[in-house]
Amino acid sequence: MYPYDSMSYNEQISLPEFLREKLFSQYGEELTEKIRQGYLARRRVSLRLNPLKGDRNATLDELNAAGLSPEPVSWYRDAFTLSKARESDVRSLKSYEDGRIYMQSLSSMLPPLILSPKPDTDILDMAAAPGGKTTQIAALCGNKCRITACERNAARAERLRYNIAKQGVGCAYVMLIDSRQLNSGFSFDSILLDAPCSGSGTLTASELCKGHFTNTLIKKSSETQRALLTKALELLKPGHEMVYSTCSILAEENEDVVGRVISKSRAEVVKLDDAWLGELPLLPVKLPGTVCVCPDADYEGFFIAKLRKLPN
Ligand code: SAM
Repeated sequence: MYPYDSMSYNEQISLPEFLREKLFSQYGEELTEKIRQGYLARRRVSLRLNPLKGDRNATLDELNAAGLSPEPVSWYRDAFTLSKARESDVRSLKSYEDGRIYMQSLSSMLPPLILSPKPDTDILDMAAAPGGKTTQIAALCGNKCRITACERNAARAERLRYNIAKQGVGCAYVMLIDSRQLNSGFSFDSILLDAPCSGSGTLTASELCKGHFTNTLIKKSSETQRALLTKALELLKPGHEMVYSTCSILAEENEDVVGRVISKSRAEVVKLDDAWLGELPLLPVKLPGTVCVCPDADYEGFFIAKLRKLPN
C-alpha cells in the first residue's frame, strides 16, 4: 500500500506506478513525496557565463539591462539563476547569440567542477552532445587542455560542433562514435562519462507520464551505462580519476552500475566531501562518497561519482 492512495487525482499527478514503487522502496515515503514535489516544481532558469568569450561585467550588465536580474550561485563563480526569466528571454539576448553565456541547469554544471580538469592534460568526454559539459571543461581549463568529445548520434554531434564553435572552444575534437567502440590503445588523464540515462531526475511530472519513460528504458540504460563505464576505466590512465554522472535518481542507473563495474575492475570511489556540496539538496546514497541531488525548483535530479583507477 502506497501513501498516496487516499489523495485526489490532482495531488497525485500520477507518477507512473512502477516509478512510484521504485522511489518508495529506494527512498521511503517522505523523500518520495519530496521528489514528487520536485518533479512538479517550475525550475528556475540558470546559465553559465563563458570566460572564454567577452567581458564578464559587460555580459552581467546586459542581463541586468534586460531586466533578468542574474543571481550568483555560491558554489560556482560563473553560475547564475534568473528568477524573473523564461528560457526564451535568454535566447533572445545578444550574449546568448554570441556564446558569452550558456543556458545550463545547475546540476549539469556539477560533473565538470567535480572532475576538476587541468590544463595540458588529455580529457575524454564520452557522451558529449549537446556540449554543455564539454564547453564547461574547456572553460575551466582556459582552453588549454585537449578534449576528445565523443557522440554516437550524428545530428547531436553536429549540435555539439556548433556549440563548441559558438562558445569559442578551441581545444576539443569531436568524434562521431559509439564510445563503447573506442580503441583500447587510447589513454586519458581524466574522463567524464555523463552517461545516457532514463532522465528520471530531469523529466517533468508530465514527461514522466508519457509512454517513453518505461522500466525497459531504465534496464536498457543501465546495461549501456555498465558497458560505457567499463570502457571508461579501461581508457583511464592508472592512478588517475574520472567522473560518472547521470540525470537519473534511480540506484539501478547509479550506485548499482558503479558498484558492479568497480567490483570487477581495479578502481575505487573517491569520496566527494567538499563543503560546498552541503549547499545542495541531497538524497541519501547507497554507495558512500557518491552524491545524488534531489529535484527541486533550482536543481534537476542528478547523480555523480568520482572514481580512481588503481595504480598498476
Ligand atoms: N554531456 C552532455 C552535455 O552536458 O551536454 C549531455 C549528454 S546526454 C546525457 C547523453 C548523450 O550520449 C546523448 O547525446 C546520446 O546521444 C549520447 N550517447 C548515448 N549512447 C552513446 C554511446 N554509446 N556512445 C557515445 N555517445 C552516446
